Amino acid sequence: MSFDYDVIVIGSGPGGYATALRTSELGLHTAVIEMRDEVGGTCLNRGCIPTKAYLTAAHTLHDAKRAHVWGLDISVNAVDMSALKAAKDKTVTGVVKGLTQHMKARSIDIIHGEGSLLAPHQVRVVDGEDARELSAQHVVLATGSRPAELDGFPVDGERILSSDEALDLTEQPESVVIVGAGAIALEFATFWNSLGTQVTVLLRKDAPLSRWDSHVSSVIMRTMKREGVHFETHSHITSVAEDGTVTYAVANAKTGDETEKTVSADKVLIAIGRVPNTQADWFAGAGIDLDERGFIRTDAYGRTNLEDVWAVGDATGGLLLAHEAFEQALTVSESIAGRSTHVVDTRTIPQVVYGIIDAVSIGYTAQQAEDAGFEGVEETVVPQLSNPRVAMLGANGTTVLVTALSDGSDEKAARIVVGVHMAGPSASELAGAAREIIQNRIPLTDAANALFAHPTLSETLGETLLKADGRPLNV
Ligand code: FAD
Repeated sequence: MSFDYDVIVIGSGPGGYATALRTSELGLHTAVIEMRDEVGGTCLNRGCIPTKAYLTAAHTLHDAKRAHVWGLDISVNAVDMSALKAAKDKTVTGVVKGLTQHMKARSIDIIHGEGSLLAPHQVRVVDGEDARELSAQHVVLATGSRPAELDGFPVDGERILSSDEALDLTEQPESVVIVGAGAIALEFATFWNSLGTQVTVLLRKDAPLSRWDSHVSSVIMRTMKREGVHFETHSHITSVAEDGTVTYAVANAKTGDETEKTVSADKVLIAIGRVPNTQADWFAGAGIDLDERGFIRTDAYGRTNLEDVWAVGDATGGLLLAHEAFEQALTVSESIAGRSTHVVDTRTIPQVVYGIIDAVSIGYTAQQAEDAGFEGVEETVVPQLSNPRVAMLGANGTTVLVTALSDGSDEKAARIVVGVHMAGPSASELAGAAREIIQNRIPLTDAANALFAHPTLSETLGETLLKADGRPLNV
């Protein structure tokens, strides 16, 4: 049987474009179907890249405000939000253009239109009035996700926003309320706060990143509070009035009794998570197996329940991160090409929140390691202030290492690192190194022998490894 393509990928975000880049590199004739005008998906257009462009501006402002520490007289006189947005857009356009060229150079056909799976090997593309059918040996679903909605607070693009609209404001809001306390909520809080916008974060728990290591989440909250962000813990939004008054209920942590409070806000950002783009009729019609939240079920190699139909990225659930999608894309591509491959180790995907200081979480917290049955779990916590580069930045941070015995309770078993949790300046840059240590089960003593250049921020990890190995040096 002959097909139009070896591989058709539906969706051109990190999951889709990474799959296509790899399958085409492996010699497979590949097409990507994208319903929007531009490739790159959420990450390039409405996620990772635009938010980091804004956070780059936030860092510049933050540094300017601290300049007096070094005897420098620098003042920021105005924020031109329209120009700031234009600079963000330019960054995005540049990255999207680069990706488009890269895909074309790999001979990937980019087909615009809404793709649907009719049956295994059969895809329909609808672009306005045009509809056509294409066939492929393999079809990869990479349809991604979109902002979750909050009942009673529909996004209107004017006062109530999702992250999509928040990225496109051309005027700086004087005040915002952010509902949610995950990565997206905190990144917007950092950005707006740095501009001088009054930011109130409403969160249901007693700290942001509630499932993270508590040392990390409390350092992040302390730092953001010090910068000026106002957190309302144990709270939930109850109404948004025409005049911008936001009402919310705050529960007493002990008794649960609720008190009503109000704050004035130009904008309300709903950042309570993401839902998969699997709502289309064709998902059900084609017989794709979805879980109870609508994410596509796959095996460890990315296979769906349908033959030669695969899925990657946010649509499959997990942590909903671009680097997770990249990893899945490599596994699926290699599998399609019939090569042996590794499966994605979902336990060690780094979670990162970017800000004036970053937060990183990889692997188990101490409690999770114990619950998972590891023997000899130990936690080593090193405040980062002892690092001179952290001190120079006027920042703070913490590094938390969770170690356990590699082979049950044998006293001679090597101690290995099963979790690394960090809050600190540029901590995200250490995520890759930390993951390697965990993923490759490098014995703690060997990991602690790694040499980090002095004086660098990366020494925060080196010092913590040494301390965990019983050889504390500067801490
Ligand atoms: P998407 O990027 O969502 O791409 C899916 C694509 O499929 C879209 O282009 C969509 O138009 C297209 N599509 C959907 N259905 C169809 C159809 N039927 N036919 C044709 N095309 C279709 N992750 C990180 O790792 N680091 C970060 O710093 C980070 N920051 C983020 C900040 C924000 C504000 C947001 C919202 C997300 C962020 N993420 C970050 C998450 C990251 O963007 C996603 O994990 C990533 O984009 C998922 O890639 P994907 O390919 O699965 O889906």
